[in-house]
Amino acid sequence: MFERIAKFKEFLSKFRRVPDCPAGRVTCVDSAPALLKPLPHLLMAAPLLLFIDSSLADTRIASVRVWPATEYTRFTLESASPIEYSVSTVKNPDRVVIDLKDVILTSELKQVSSKINPSDPYIRAVRTGRFKPGVVRVVLDLKTEARPQAFVLKPVGAYGYRLVLDIYPAVPPDPLMALLEDRAGILQADAETGNAASKMDSKNEEAAKNNETSRKGKPGEMLRLITVAIDPGHGGEDPGAISRRGTHEKSITLAIARKLKAKIDKEPNMRAALTREGDYFISLPKRLEKARQVNADLFVSVHADAYIKPHARGSSVFALSESGATSAAAGWLAKKENQADLIGGVDLDIKDPFLKQTLLDLSQTATINDSLKLGKEVLLEIGDINHLHKSNVEQAGFAVLKSPDIPSILIETAFISNPDEEKKLIDPVYQEKLADAILSGIKRYFTNNPPASRSRMVFLD
Ligand SMILES: [Zn+2]
Repeated sequence: MFERIAKFKEFLSKFRRVPDCPAGRVTCVDSAPALLKPLPHLLMAAPLLLFIDSSLADTRIASVRVWPATEYTRFTLESASPIEYSVSTVKNPDRVVIDLKDVILTSELKQVSSKINPSDPYIRAVRTGRFKPGVVRVVLDLKTEARPQAFVLKPVGAYGYRLVLDIYPAVPPDPLMALLEDRAGILQADAETGNAASKMDSKNEEAAKNNETSRKGKPGEMLRLITVAIDPGHGGEDPGAISRRGTHEKSITLAIARKLKAKIDKEPNMRAALTREGDYFISLPKRLEKARQVNADLFVSVHADAYIKPHARGSSVFALSESGATSAAAGWLAKKENQADLIGGVDLDIKDPFLKQTLLDLSQTATINDSLKLGKEVLLEIGDINHLHKSNVEQAGFAVLKSPDIPSILIETAFISNPDEEKKLIDPVYQEKLADAILSGIKRYFTNNPPASRSRMVFLD
């Protein structure tokens, strides 16, 4: 039956000769209903077939979402059934064109231009229109040359089918350069305000530079500039856990991470880099890669998950386990966190060589031992401000903690599913306290375990 429908449709399409739109125009609306275009006697011959054809073919776009970020802008079209599509790029000016087959031109699609933020780094505007019968065209006017990547995600969680178009800049931003510029900006601001800390800062950086050749410092000394990668969990299409009141975990994690970064950057011999700076999706392997790109000494992933039991409360700190989980709850959480890429949306056809490399590395055990030490210090500090879910550092197979040579911990700051803890999590004062506690833990870890020199360390000159 379906084969017959398809054949008949193909046959009909030969009779639908609607001129193509002029180049660069997409509002070339074919006002006559597409199905009335074929020869009338054919319509008379198979009315039932056409009815079925029409109802089966047309897909309704339920939602259009745009996630702008410096790294890339994601454009998502969600529908109940998969969309057949083709993507092309056009130059002078730069545009990305997506042709959607058998899609209804709904108001959601027509009003897509209102979803573009003027501050979007890559998309200037979006236009939609019926390009030819059976094809709706979406044109994204770009601000710069880009490398688009399109793929389809199958239904997962609360989502239906998603057609995802990621607009990456042709020249990707360098995270290390961004960090150096960020750091330079902080130093500049300090110098302008005559802040004594800035003098300390330059002194320490000078000391750090001189000590770069030393193998390992004495306990209690911090010899060089320490870089901490802070990883706000979830983001963009992946909201993380959602409380009964509708608070998204991704917003909480970003707020705490930003506060922690500000505190670390104020320390004379430390600097911090965020794995995501706003509300957009970053895959788990990419988070690890970004930590590596900025030569991170530590990786701290911040979360505030829900748990199956609504009354579960308290903070927990996790390190990686290479062989199973230390408790059923730890295993459950790791499994849940590792699903973030399915919800947030990665192109599974692209194999990630970085992830393979990390899994094969043999230095993981030593790194896990350091992660446990770091976790212990942080847990001790958090214990002063919140009830602890478990009084020891737990371990499970969290994918985001798999950097082979960067001590990495994941902090479940509190359970967003617990109404009392949610109240705390959304309170900026409490967020500050949490950031203070995490920083104190990190500092004590480094006091007890001074960092060895690293050949790939980069200093501000
Ligand atoms: Zn989480």
